[in-house]
Parts: sequence; C-alpha cells; structure tokens
Amino acid sequence: MRFYFPDSQDLVSPGYNFQHDEYPPSRVRQRDDLYAHEILDAPPYSGLLVSKSIVDGAMKGSGKYTGAQRARLYRLGIRGFFRLPDSIESLGDNGAFNYADELVPPVTVEETLDFYEGCGFDAGVSVDHIIFGYDPLASLEKVDPAWAERRRITLRLAEEFITRVTDQGLKLKPVGAAQGWSPASYADSVRQLQAMGYRRIALGGMVPLKTKDILECLQAIDLVRSPTTELHLLGITRVESMDAFSEYGVTSFDSTSAFRQAFMDDRNNFHTEHESFIALRVPQVDGNPTLKRAILAGRVSQKEAIAQERVCLRALREFDGSDQAIQRALTELGAYESICQVKKSYLGEYKRTLDAAPWSDCKCSLCRKLGIEIAIFRGTERNKRRGFHNMSVLASKMKKLKSNTLVSTTRSNNG
Ligand SMILES: [Zn+2]
Repeated sequence: MRFYFPDSQDLVSPGYNFQHDEYPPSRVRQRDDLYAHEILDAPPYSGLLVSKSIVDGAMKGSGKYTGAQRARLYRLGIRGFFRLPDSIESLGDNGAFNYADELVPPVTVEETLDFYEGCGFDAGVSVDHIIFGYDPLASLEKVDPAWAERRRITLRLAEEFITRVTDQGLKLKPVGAAQGWSPASYADSVRQLQAMGYRRIALGGMVPLKTKDILECLQAIDLVRSPTTELHLLGITRVESMDAFSEYGVTSFDSTSAFRQAFMDDRNNFHTEHESFIALRVPQVDGNPTLKRAILAGRVSQKEAIAQERVCLRALREFDGSDQAIQRALTELGAYESICQVKKSYLGEYKRTLDAAPWSDCKCSLCRKLGIEIAIFRGTERNKRRGFHNMSVLASKMKKLKSNTLVSTTRSNNG
C-alpha cells in the first residue's frame, strides 16, 4: 500500500529559532526550507500528488504558488523542484475539487497534458468532474441528470487523455479517473476505463462516503476488475480499513488528513501509533485575532499578555514530566487561556497530553530534536513539523499492514 501526499507547498525552515521565534536572516524560502521528505529520517510517503489547480491557481482559493515558483517548477521539473529522491513517485492531477462548482471542467486535456509533460511527472490522472452525491439505489439511467452528465464528461475526457498519451508516445503513466454515485456506476466506469486501456484507475468522489459504502463500491468494481488493474483512492486515509481495501485491488491512496489534523483538528493534533493527543495552545500575542481585538479595545493589557505568553513557554520548556512540572504547566496554560478569553478551556485534555508526553517516546527526527516544542500549537513552523511527525506515524502504521507485507514479499520474489 502506497501513500501519496498532496502538495500544498508545505515546507519548514531548518534554521528556525524556536527560543526567539525567528527565521534565519539570510533565509530564502524555496532554497533553504525543507519538505517532509527532506527533514525526516525517511520520506513519510512514497509519492507526491501535485494538482494543476494548486500550481496554476486558476480557480478561487486554489493557487498556492507564486509566479516565480511556478516558473521554477517548469524550469527544474518536478524532481528538481521538490528535490525528490528516486524512491518517491510524482503523480499529477487537476485538483477537480477546486472547479467542482463549474458546469464543465474549465481545463482541457491538452492543457492538462502540457502541465504533466512540462513538469515531467511520472504519472498523471485524466481530467475528471466530481459528483457530489451518493445514491446506491439509483440506476445507471434513472439518476440525477447532472450526476450522469459529470460521469459522461469524466469518461469522455479519460478516453481523449489516453488516446493522446498513446498517439504522442508519452512516457507518462496514464491513470484513469473514475466517478460514480453507486457501486454499479463506479463499476461501470472502471469497466469502461479498462476497455480504453487503463491499468491504473483513481476513484474520485469517495471522501464523504462511509467505509461500508466504499467497500460495497470496491466489491462491485472487483467483479469487472482485471487482475492487473490497480486502484487508487483519492483523498482517503482510513488506515484501519486499508487491509480490507487492498483485497479489492487498492494499492495506493492520498490524503492530507494526518498532516492537517496537526493544526486543523480541535483535539487530535499529535498522533501516536495507537492514539492521538491535543497540542498545547500557546498562540502568539500578535498572531491571535481575538487577543489583538481585546488588547485594542483595552480589555486586556498587552504587556500582561506578552508576559504570560513567555511564562507559559518557559513552564513548557522546563517541563521534565514530574507531577510538579505538570501542575505548573497547567497553571500557566490556564492563566494564558483566561487572558486569551478562550470560549472553552482545554486544560483537561492538556493534562492528558502532559501526562503521556508522547513526543519523548517518538523516534522521528523532529521530535528527537524539538522535544516539547513540537507539541506546542503555535505558528506555522511548529504546526507543520507536528504535521510531518503525524505523517511519519502514518508511515509506520502502514508498514505494519498485512497488505504491505504482502506487497514487499511479492516484490522481492520478483527480484
Ligand atoms: Zn515524532
């Protein structure tokens, strides 16, 4: 089972000073900052998924690249730009989510192939159009016409895509996108994509589905799937179900969830192999909008806020795991919570995190180097490092999957 990480230009600065919260003065972002595969001991993913809409930013809120970065990506190619080791595959797609509101995809097959070829991707997903709806009882004919139309568009574009790849003799490995609204419609999409010549198929639109529904779709697909066809699940982690998915030909998936939970989730910020913990929130006085407003309105003294922020950080940095240290950290976190006028207190959850001190048991290079800093919810450098740590935990959970042991045995048997 292979995991692909969707790129969103997430890098960290290796020279960041955590004591003073300062970047090195000479830092040049793209040159000096590091990707997860560069800063961890071992890359936490076997592939990088890069979306055209993230790079080109054609749609609202989608672009993450500056003009200069985009030009550099085209000039250096995907391997050079991301400094990818040979072990990591590059997979391109359109980022269909970003144009899901449009009636038809605002991008042509030719433009998509120009992007894949221009950047030198190893593999690329055909242009697709997401169907936002699931109804296992709808048939292929009796269904919301908009859903049927989106599936037709996806299949038509997939046919054009593989035809162009073949006719132009491209090295790019074509991956067919399958959309559907039910087990039968997904199975029919896979059947048609195989007939076009696809041996690798990405299943889209399954993110909101329950695991049971995904399994039902995979079972239906399995009845038409050629034994050599490999399936990719777009946007789905669910490690606990990966062994079950792999029985039906799923060999890869991509997801940002382990990474994003580090700073987007209310509680599950720091993962370990068996559980997850809340990170310790010590927002920067200048970086916290609620606090800033309270200071401007004169309800909170800025001086006091800055002083408590420092006391809080010191209590955490001096943390040695003793009961006394836990108590002191909780007192200072609580005092800072009141200054920040938080709507709900997390002190109960903080106690659990401090009791377990999970960073001290983690073998990843980031936890070893940073200690408790990685568990502090504060600014992008700590938060992204915690996200990278979460991905390394995901990688080690995946190593223990039955399906992974099977893949590695088969590979070594084949030489
Ligand atoms: Zn770690």
